[in-house]
Amino acid sequence: MRHGIAHDKLCTIEDTRTISSLSANATVSCSKCGVKAHDPADVCDPVQLPEAHTFGD
Ligand SMILES: [Zn+2]
Repeated sequence: MRHGIAHDKLCTIEDTRTISSLSANATVSCSKCGVKAHDPADVCDPVQLPEAHTFGD
């Protein structure tokens, strides 16, 4: 069992190679940890990156 955790946040991942892979094309960063991610759900306190490219919703 994995303690019922369905999706680990990047903030909790210690493998830097995993983080760099998951944070490719990052659109948000964590204001607490500074971790960047593509999906806001991957960090504990997501902040939209000002340089993020958006192509419509
Ligand atoms: Zn965080």
